Amino acid sequence: MTADLIDGKALAADLRARVADAAAAFETACGRKPCLRVLLVGDHPASQAYVRSKERAAHRSGLDSTVERLSAETGQAALLARIAALNADGGVDGILVQLPLPARIDPEAVIAAIDPAKDVDGFHPVNAGRLMTGLGTPLVPCTPYGCLLLIRKALGTASLAGRTAFVLGRSNIVGKPLALLLLAADATVTIGHSRTADPACLARRADILVAAAGRPHLVGADWVKPGAVIIDVGINRIPTEDGKGRLVGDVDIASVRPIAGSVTPVPGGVGPMTIAVLLRNTVLAAAARNGVSIADPAEGL
Ligand code: NAD
Repeated sequence: MTADLIDGKALAADLRARVADAAAAFETACGRKPCLRVLLVGDHPASQAYVRSKERAAHRSGLDSTVERLSAETGQAALLARIAALNADGGVDGILVQLPLPARIDPEAVIAAIDPAKDVDGFHPVNAGRLMTGLGTPLVPCTPYGCLLLIRKALGTASLAGRTAFVLGRSNIVGKPLALLLLAADATVTIGHSRTADPACLARRADILVAAAGRPHLVGADWVKPGAVIIDVGINRIPTEDGKGRLVGDVDIASVRPIAGSVTPVPGGVGPMTIAVLLRNTVLAAAARNGVSIADPAEGL
């Protein structure tokens, strides 16, 4: 048996096409495109690449998207003032502050300053709280929601209810919100982290295994239940002989493929979904803020 590869590029392209339809419907109703503003402080190379990809994808799906590049010397007060201005601007639907921020800026204070109705990253405590309490919010964190859509795709018509899931990683950005999304979908969820004793043993019981530890090739064959769905969130650069380095996930894909049912590749799995969900969140934020009724582009994907 060889596990199927779950094609994140194809699923993301489907979602982006649905977002484009929703953005066009919004423009017909409101006379303008859904508007996303991305704030980037400093010149972190990976962040530069991420915001460029986000802007390109947003334009292709018919969104109005601009990256505001602020100098590396920008202080917290100046950044908070810029966020306050974007909060007050009725023509702006979504605000994203690219992380990580320079060490002198408190990311929690910055996230808390964003209007929850414009919080397209879904990190604001109000949106995180709504996810946790089951009140519901369309503005859920992009990478975890992308993982949930990939899991649903891999399961096909089968339900998540009654399945066991193991999420490796407990960050506020990936592990915790993904565990909550899986719980809301009626899976039975275990969370592992750096202090978990024998995570491989817990993982081996899971129908769904998500690796979000940021440790290259940590997850091998001895972590995998036969037939499991494996989602690899990790993005790790490892050295190569030519000095350029290579991106690998947290999963040793060659060793898990003979056992698992399906697995996401790196690259081409979770990464493209993260951006597509950001665009979906922006369109839904625009619709909600302007009283326009638009179906969730991710519904029935
Ligand atoms: P993080 O460093 O904030 O959290 C890592 C988590 O993994 C922590 O909870 C830690 O306890 C756990 N962990 C670390 N080492 C471990 C080990 N040896 N055993 C068990 N648990 C361990 O990272 P993050 O922001 O949650 O990101 C995780 C990974 O996902 C990174 O590789 C990151 O680059 C990647 N990522 C990818 C996307 C994407 O779009 N594909 C988005 C966000 C993050």
